Amino acid sequence: MTKERLITGKTKLLGVIGHPVEHSLSPAMHNAAIANLGLDYVYLPFPIAPKNLEIAIAGFAAIDVVGFSVTIPHKQAIMPLLSEITPLAQAIGAVNTVSRQNNQWVGTNTDIEGFIAPLLTTYKQDWSQKVAVILGNGGAARAVVAGCHQLGFAKIHVVGRNMQRLQEFGNSWSNSPISKNLQIHQWEELPKLIPQANLLVNTTPIGMYPKVNESPLSGEEIANLPKGAIAYDLIYIPKPTQFLEQAEKQGAIAIDGLEMLVQQGVAALKIWLQQETVPVEVMRQALQKHLGLS
Ligand code: NAP
Repeated sequence: MTKERLITGKTKLLGVIGHPVEHSLSPAMHNAAIANLGLDYVYLPFPIAPKNLEIAIAGFAAIDVVGFSVTIPHKQAIMPLLSEITPLAQAIGAVNTVSRQNNQWVGTNTDIEGFIAPLLTTYKQDWSQKVAVILGNGGAARAVVAGCHQLGFAKIHVVGRNMQRLQEFGNSWSNSPISKNLQIHQWEELPKLIPQANLLVNTTPIGMYPKVNESPLSGEEIANLPKGAIAYDLIYIPKPTQFLEQAEKQGAIAIDGLEMLVQQGVAALKIWLQQETVPVEVMRQALQKHLGLS
């Protein structure tokens, strides 16, 4: 029998802001953790249109919201509304987690922590002589680049299809030490890069449900991935993606996007609750259940 959960005037508020937000997986993951810890918190989805962002954040302060996740389209727009932004979030240029500290909003980005988590634990190694090849140059690619830099990769190659956006992406790191190891490339250069890749990351939506038969790489291209390389897809549905299936057949190690999703949430919950441990397995299982993976 599940214990009845009583929401009272003392219940503390957490949530996620986005537009739309109804498909967010975060409420399932965070409320499962809260229930497991027996804490008097609730995590709610807040659909907030861009024009209402400022007033909504002021309202959150008025009702003592403890913290919230930020998703599309607010990850950049929220930044001028915060009192403090961590250097990590500043480097990426996006905030995905906000907490109330000393009556002020503090923004950070836990996507880097989420992305590097499996590379720091299960697949831990010395990355200082290794080469990362990143497909795509959107928002998630920024966290991946910063994560690869944090891990100490010798070279970080970013491959994109639109030269102007790619160049803007490259230029955006010019004041950062990351630029030293970063190179941008057009998609046509991929065949030359794949044989050098120790880590190949898909940050494009190619292969995401419902277009499950698509892959960012042809079978021929992926055949040149070195044996023992890691193929990492940020997509978590389907499991595995066509890209990961092809890479595994080639002898590569496959990592899907689910653990990144879990670990960015773990990092956020630790900040809001100001505690070092949260029930990671409960959060992972809640997501798997919600996604129909278990
Ligand atoms: P985004 O900002 O829209 O960036 C997508 C990137 O993919 C852009 O560089 C885009 O290129 C490129 N792209 C799209 N379609 C392409 C195609 N057909 N060929 C080549 N490049 C293509 O999106 P995002 O927020 O970075 O998210 C990207 C993916 O990561 C999504 O699938 C998302 O679900 C996933 N993700 C997962 C996690 C996780 O926790 N696991 C976290 C964040 C994101 P252009 O700039 O030329 O359009």
